[in-house]
Amino acid sequence: MRVKLYSPRHPLHPSTCSMGAGGLWMPFHCDDPRTGRWAAETLDELFTYETQGQADGGQEQLVEIVPILKLLEESGRPVSDEPGTDNFGDPEEWTKDPRLHFQRLSIEKLFQLNKVNRFRLPFKHELIDAGYRYGHLFFPPIVNSPLMLAHLLEEASKTLEEVDVPSSPADETREFCESMSDVMDLAATKNCDAVVNCTGLGSRQLCQDNEVLGARGILLNFERTELGRREPNGDEANRKDIAIMAESGPWASETMPCYMIPRGSRIVVGGSYLEEDGCQTITQEERAQLFRNAFHLGIDLDKSRPVQQWVGFRPYRPMVRCQVDPNYIGSSIKLIHNYGHGGSGWTVNVGAAKECASLVQEALQG
Ligand SMILES: Cc1cc2nc3c(=O)[nH]c(=O)nc-3n(C[C@H](O)[C@H](O)[C@H](O)COP(=O)(O)OP(=O)(O)OC[C@H]3O[C@@H](n4cnc5c(N)ncnc54)[C@H](O)[C@@H]3O)c2cc1C
Repeated sequence: MRVKLYSPRHPLHPSTCSMGAGGLWMPFHCDDPRTGRWAAETLDELFTYETQGQADGGQEQLVEIVPILKLLEESGRPVSDEPGTDNFGDPEEWTKDPRLHFQRLSIEKLFQLNKVNRFRLPFKHELIDAGYRYGHLFFPPIVNSPLMLAHLLEEASKTLEEVDVPSSPADETREFCESMSDVMDLAATKNCDAVVNCTGLGSRQLCQDNEVLGARGILLNFERTELGRREPNGDEANRKDIAIMAESGPWASETMPCYMIPRGSRIVVGGSYLEEDGCQTITQEERAQLFRNAFHLGIDLDKSRPVQQWVGFRPYRPMVRCQVDPNYIGSSIKLIHNYGHGGSGWTVNVGAAKECASLVQEALQG
């Protein structure tokens, strides 16, 4: 199959949702029944990257395995520290993948184990005071999203028949396509016999698809090496940064999760999950909330300021649209969609892309 890539924006343009995203492998707001399978296939590939090591010549890795701690409140039910028990109800399927070493722990046990683990954890008494009594601890890959996009673009430039994207993120001279018929006209000028539509939230307008909606997320980026930490005992040296997340309790809610993700040279602090909120900037109130999150998660704000802030819109759709468009089956150019991966684009992209590639072949043969 000969492939051409077209985009009116460079992949590192700030409007590209994949560019600013946390890059954590963890199914999040992607409710499609195929999510588990796609996520497992993506995990296979991310582990391959991780074992292959460094990005071309750079210090930062494309993919790193980083522990994540998800904070949980008192459940009211007896809880075992043993992995594999279901005191919190049936674990989600993806948590059973042995490569993730998924465990449920009490905060007591977590701190006991931390004498050996030496993770940078929030203060124990603050966790207890806030009512967080348990945590899910596991070891997923984190994709350095801007670095990975740059890497994929470079690979595409070497292997694809044509790569037609602006030369820099600052170049905004190209127009977005207004409609799917614009896209198909463009495909005709490029002699394509099939189009794969990966325009994310752009598909709302392009395909007149009101099922896909933007779920707004906000992030602060801190420079990792210059980050001041709130040190429990002045013993922060040689501790390992981990990702930490709460979606409930006094620090967070489902729409305003509190999280921190170490990603390459940055630590990103979030966030929000606000469906149909179109605000392009971070309000003062939200910035204050993000600062509170950073503080809870151990950042000393007297010593560190964010170097960047970002607003992104997750393309959420109740079912990901990964399908051959029936309206184009009889036409000379077939149309295959691949959009609507919600908060899980980096988690499912490989599996969804493989399925999409099979659909292209089927559409061309059929
Ligand atoms: C704050 C935040 C944190 C996140 N964290 C994570 C995470 O930790 N892990 C995870 O798995 N996922 C995460 N996500 C979700 C993830 O970023 C998205 O699922 C993913 O980026 C969607 O990818 P996409 O390629 O569909 O869309 P995009 O990356 O937005 O790409 C769409 C492309 O289509 C182009 N386009 C759009 N409209 C048009 C048009 N009309 N004509 C031509 N081209 C067009 C754009 O220029 C762009 O190049 C996060 C999202 C946010 C907002």
